[in-house]
Amino acid sequence: MNLTAESHRIPLSDGNSIPLLGLGTYADPQKTPKGSCLEAVKIAIDAGYRHIDGAFVYFNEHEVGQAIREKIAEGKIKREDIFYCGKLWNTCHPPELVRPTLEKTLKILQLDYVDLYIIELPMAFKALEACKDAGLAKSIGVSNFNRRQLEMIMNKPGLKYKPVSNQVECHPYFTQPKLLEFCRQHDIIIVGYSPLGTSRDESWVNVSSPPLLKDPVLNAIGKKYNKTAAQIALRFNVQRGVVVIPKSFNPQRIRENFQIFDFSLTEQEMKEIEALNKNVRYVELLMWRDHPEYPFNDEY
Ligand code: NAP
Repeated sequence: MNLTAESHRIPLSDGNSIPLLGLGTYADPQKTPKGSCLEAVKIAIDAGYRHIDGAFVYFNEHEVGQAIREKIAEGKIKREDIFYCGKLWNTCHPPELVRPTLEKTLKILQLDYVDLYIIELPMAFKALEACKDAGLAKSIGVSNFNRRQLEMIMNKPGLKYKPVSNQVECHPYFTQPKLLEFCRQHDIIIVGYSPLGTSRDESWVNVSSPPLLKDPVLNAIGKKYNKTAAQIALRFNVQRGVVVIPKSFNPQRIRENFQIFDFSLTEQEMKEIEALNKNVRYVELLMWRDHPEYPFNDEY
């Protein structure tokens, strides 16, 4: 596939498509000045990003919506150029809460639809299908699902739509070989979160796993192409068909993370990076550890 800065969408199983690179927007609301997300999304759109990953519980969805609307008003983009992914949070999964929660997101964004809406628990899927039918979400998917949970949904009697994607942690230290293979077989795209190895915020990140961007192999390969370890980590996933959603609110790094379409890694380099897998998560979601659907007790 010839990926370019202008054209890096890949098909989804429902006929829609998703840009392989998106901007992540989670930042601790206590430590982040108001307006930072608004500025970041506008800079990202100017830099060429057409995919934004957000959530109601990031408490900055209003800023994402404002940035998109301002860029549409400027004539820089049309609504259909942008791919916005929103998320249903764990506490909102009873089926009767799914549509009202998505409608709340749309009101905050001041948009008519999201391009993708994802859920974290299987119980909400039927209600999610109804949101697609109502045109509130163009595509529907899941997040942090293990194989068993994906199978549970896909084997549900009367399933109307398959999940198009599964958003999970994915980067060179956690390459997800088995889940990726399973998802490939079932035409489910993996969207890799924390593709740069997270912000290493000790309040929710397992910092016993070393910092990804200091990795000597990523840095050595970067040197060869005059790229940073971050760019190599992102290119690695994009080149194997995994969508990446790096978060940055820093103008220079937002632009840096987009500069991954002017080079490609050799097969040997892809293998070297795959071999960095430590199979250790940065994001363990320990607050959900006692939930019956906690996804990370299974092997994958
Ligand atoms: P990430 O994208 O791997 O890393 C973000 C951190 O890296 C920030 O501290 C950022 O700081 C820094 N950074 C960005 N670009 C850099 C570069 N080129 N060089 C060096 N440092 C760089 O981590 P993440 O925020 O955990 O994950 C990305 C997105 O995935 C989130 O924002 C969110 O949208 C989504 N997510 C979803 C889930 C889920 O459960 N579904 C879980 C986690 C994350 P600056 O901002 O200062 O650049």
